Formats: sequence, structure tokens, C-alpha cells
Amino acid sequence: MGTSKVFPPRLTMKVRFWGVRGGVPVPGPDTVRVGGNTPCVEVRSPEGDLIILDAGSGIRPLGLALQHEFPERLICSILISHTHLDHIQGFPFFAPARQRHNRIIIFGEKRFDERLEEILAGQMRAVYLPFALEDMDADILIKEMRNGETLVIGNNTLVDVRRLEHPGGVFGFRITNRDMVLAYATDVGHGPSGLDQRVVDLARSADLLIHDAQFSVEQKAQYWDWGHSSWEDAVQVAVAAGVKKLALFHHDMLASDTQLEELEKQAQAVFPGAFVAREGLEIVLPERA
Ligand SMILES: [Zn+2]
Ligand SMILES: [Zn+2]
Repeated sequence: MGTSKVFPPRLTMKVRFWGVRGGVPVPGPDTVRVGGNTPCVEVRSPEGDLIILDAGSGIRPLGLALQHEFPERLICSILISHTHLDHIQGFPFFAPARQRHNRIIIFGEKRFDERLEEILAGQMRAVYLPFALEDMDADILIKEMRNGETLVIGNNTLVDVRRLEHPGGVFGFRITNRDMVLAYATDVGHGPSGLDQRVVDLARSADLLIHDAQFSVEQKAQYWDWGHSSWEDAVQVAVAAGVKKLALFHHDMLASDTQLEELEKQAQAVFPGAFVAREGLEIVLPERA
């Protein structure tokens, strides 16, 4: 009998970017390398739990891939950071939501006293689309999150939900499975007086921080109260929180591939773990420091 040892498979959390852009989808020759879809990030726990962060236009191609992988039955949770259009506009085109045998739990928040369900149904009114939320045949459960709560997804994944700074409010998420940590802070601003400590706390020692980097330094100075960050802000948070990797996210609509690649070099000169989030890119956690 051989003496070779059998190692258990390494437990990993996988993160894949499907939409990395803020505002509105911007397809075209200047955005093919980074991608033009609005925010959507796929997260898979080691147990196979599927968590989708935001339902921007990137959720449409994700839906097609999931239908192919799970033709019988799909169960997933969609966490909506906030209901600005670029974070929900893809949902009507998320194909798994039209299949009766699928179960989709959508977590989000009421906004300006409108319930999450009303907001999602609102963007599918007859004046906008030829089908309504109630026509989506999947078993869809819509749940409101509260600031400070911790969601439990599957058996081992916890999601801390934290209010951050953005017009109308936004939630940041800290997703933990065993010793793996992913922090998601999109559409977040830091005021002129320095870093928002809530973001640093959310990201503390994370394997990967996904952080808003929509603004240039000049835009940030002019529009600091618009609830977005520059790549310098994101890098400062990454350093202060001691994260291992930083994904610059929610790129400006006008930023070309060339500009973003240049920005990536500048960010990496300060924080080598920084990179520009690109459609199709997959990051496997835990990240080795
Ligand atoms: Zn946005
Ligand atoms: Zn927003």
C-alpha cells in the first residue's frame, strides 16, 4: 500500500466580474478590454452557494451562463447595494428569473419610503417594458435588509450589511466564509475631511476589497458630495484596512481602456495589490498576501 497522503481539496471562494461600469452600459471599441456593463459580481462560496452583488446590465450575460450550468434548478441570492438604475437595470433581463423551477432571493432596501418590491416592479411598468415583475415565473422572494444586520447564506457564509455614504444611502457588504473575506463598497464617497472609517472597518484584513473608483482626483475635488471615490481614496482604504487585494470598480462611463490601464499602473505603484476590475476576470480567495 502506498504511503502518499491525500490532501482535502482547498476551500475557495470565487469572485467573478460581470459588470464593472457606473451609470449606463457603454459598449464600443474603447471599452472592449475592461467591459461596458454596469455593476454585477458573482460570488461562489466553497459550498457552492451563489451570491450575486448588484443587478446591473452584467447580470444578463451571467444569467445566460447560469442557465447553461443549472438547467434543472438554480438557487441564488442577489444583494442590491442600492437601487440607482445602474444597479437594478439588468434584472428584467436575468433569464433564470423567468424559469418556474428557480428560486431567487433578492435582498435590498426601501428607498424614499418606497418598498424594494415596488421599486423593482416600478422599472418594469408597462410604459417601460412589455412584461412585469409578476410575469417572472421563478420563485422570487424580496427581502429588505437593515443597516447593521448579518445575513446568513447557506451554512457558512455571513454577510455584514453596513450603511455607507452615497446620495440616498448605499449598503456595503462584508462577506465572510471561514477565514475568507470579501468586502464590497461600490458607490461610496469619502468626504473632504478624510476616509470614512465605516468603509475601513468593513474592509478590515479582507482578501479582496472591491471599491468605487469612478472619479479622477479633479472630479473628486469638484463633486465630493456625489458619493463616489477616486482610485487614491480606494488605495488609502486598502492600506488603512490592511487588505490583500484591491479591485478598482464602478469605472467612469467616459474612461477608455487605455485610460484605465494607465490608472491601474499608477495605483499599483502605490499599492501593488491594486487592479482594475474587468469583465470576465475571476479572483480566487483566500488571497495569499
Ligand atoms: Zn452606480
Ligand atoms: Zn449610486
